Amino acid sequence: MTEQTIPAGDGLRADEVSAYAALEDRVRAGATMPLTMAAPGRGKPPRHWLDLTGEQRRAAVTELGLPGFRADQISRHVFEHLDLDPSGWTDLPAADRGRVAEAFLPSLLTSVRPLSCDGGTTLKTLWRLHDGSLIESVLMRYGVPGIRASGSGRNRATLCISSQAGCGMACPFCATGQGGLQRNLSAAEILAQVVAGARSLRDGEIPGAPGRVNNIVFMGMGEPLANFKAVTATIDTLTAPAPHGLGISARGITVSTVGLVPRINALADAGVPVTLAVSLHAPDDELRDELCPINTRWNVADVVDAAHRYFRLTKRRVSIEYALIRDVNDQVARAELLAEVLRRDGGHGWVHVNLIPLNPTPGSKWTASRRRDEAAFVAALERRGVAVTVRDTRGREIDGACGQLAASVAGE
Ligand code: SAH
Repeated sequence: MTEQTIPAGDGLRADEVSAYAALEDRVRAGATMPLTMAAPGRGKPPRHWLDLTGEQRRAAVTELGLPGFRADQISRHVFEHLDLDPSGWTDLPAADRGRVAEAFLPSLLTSVRPLSCDGGTTLKTLWRLHDGSLIESVLMRYGVPGIRASGSGRNRATLCISSQAGCGMACPFCATGQGGLQRNLSAAEILAQVVAGARSLRDGEIPGAPGRVNNIVFMGMGEPLANFKAVTATIDTLTAPAPHGLGISARGITVSTVGLVPRINALADAGVPVTLAVSLHAPDDELRDELCPINTRWNVADVVDAAHRYFRLTKRRVSIEYALIRDVNDQVARAELLAEVLRRDGGHGWVHVNLIPLNPTPGSKWTASRRRDEAAFVAALERRGVAVTVRDTRGREIDGACGQLAASVAGE
């Protein structure tokens, strides 16, 4: 990766910029990948309808010389019909369609490689952005009658989206982290992944009858809270009622972070009750420093405090992500320490632990835990009253998550 200086701006305060620069220096001295807090800022995508707020949309159509009511009309096509191509919008004069397309709906995502598994109920798409950067999104449908791999229970769909091209957080077990950060995505580039996923479901391209996206998780490529402005703008548009947004409930949205404490606090203060997931992966600073280099800046206690504050302010139960790595972080003693570290208000009612069997990256020295160690880890948490689940491992054969598909294509 090339050396990067941190530009001011992008919502970072001057003190944050210098703190991050110092942090990068420290980590550079010891880590395989430097931490990068701010994107280099290259390849800014063209402005898109999905980037704008309701007010900006009205101003933009007027600027183009169109009557103001066209704004609602365009939004209905985009958010209700999930249609980003004005050439077929018959309620818009033919002469205006090309101008609207050019001004507001430039093509942002090109599907490079769609891959599916689990009987077609897991669909992963690798997208190329206008500057050649690669990102991915994964649609997972659950509870489809007749398809065992989709699991049981209610028929619902979760879409996992990327917030950055690459990632600057340098976690050594994560393929994206090892590839470094290319750039932040714009709100439109994030939202376009949702529009595409919602369209696939609506059009019946996924087995199980036409459906809707119920859950959105920021667990694709990138550290969402390092791209705070675009991610919060995305959440605003996801939750805005039609015709000005996708009308998705904030409860169905999960923002997953490696633990950027000031940004967790800012997200809590923003007052949009999305679910927060914190990638902890170790209950002790010594091991977490290695697994999540950002821990050298905000340690386990800082992160758990911020997570608990998030719970107090939003009343949303926080999810703690913990990738189980064989003989690294999967000992019963660590489960016990995890339970202790998470105890707040006399118990664990504010939190839920989500164990993720490690998906080893190519060439990794680490692998997933043995079944019996995983079971012992779960039992140790349950004995202490910690709510815990083990994440299913859908999509493994298509490099289901964690940046592996983009990494393999970039290397071709
Ligand atoms: N930057 C965000 C989103 C990362 S992806 C974050 O750190 O939370 C979502 C989850 O997948 C994170 O918990 C991440 O640590 C985890 N993850 C990354 N690589 C993994 C791998 N190879 N196996 C299992 N989980 C992994």
